[in-house]
Amino acid sequence: MAMSDMYLADEDATESFGRLLARASMSPTHPGQTLGGRLFLKGDLGAGKTTLSRGVLREYGHVGPVKSPTYTLVEPYEMSDCLLYHFDLYRLEDPEEVEFLGVFDYFDRANLCLVEWAERGAGFLPPPDLELTLTNDGTGRRIAWTACSAHGERIAQRLSESMALLNSGMSVR
Ligand code: ADP
Ligand code: MG
Repeated sequence: MAMSDMYLADEDATESFGRLLARASMSPTHPGQTLGGRLFLKGDLGAGKTTLSRGVLREYGHVGPVKSPTYTLVEPYEMSDCLLYHFDLYRLEDPEEVEFLGVFDYFDRANLCLVEWAERGAGFLPPPDLELTLTNDGTGRRIAWTACSAHGERIAQRLSESMALLNSGMSVR
């Protein structure tokens, strides 16, 4: 059965998970190019959503800090081979505001979108491919994920494969 839940002992583990997730969403023949995807990140404030996003963005080649776009609601990352968008909709007052943000095109199939607090935009966002939920577990976190589309299944499948390799002691790279 596909693994869909994992313990993350510390911040580094969360960022590493983000890196594996990025890999699973990249073209197998052209790493750095994305296969696209809408990844919704759920969990309370401080659960690790931005940390995970940082791992994803860095694996795609972003250098430098990544902070939650709490006030701007979305931060674009123009990489050489693809477009990535990092949303944080925590401050959205009303789901309808998504329409005024003018972000419709961002959700193009070709792009990778990481969305924190997608529930605040309920009804005005396209459906996710993959939903990932972070929760506190002792001093660490637990992450569980569910595919919500055929494309999401594919990403989840590749994620499980790279984790199986890790568990068998092999390096992913
Ligand atoms: P969110 O975006 O969900 O509000 P952040 O990613 O900003 O959360 O993380 C909040 C805090 O949790 C940060 O201080 C980060 O270092 C810490 N953190 C992230 N992952 C873990 C983990 N697996 N175990 C313990 N602390 C973590
Ligand atoms: Mg955040």
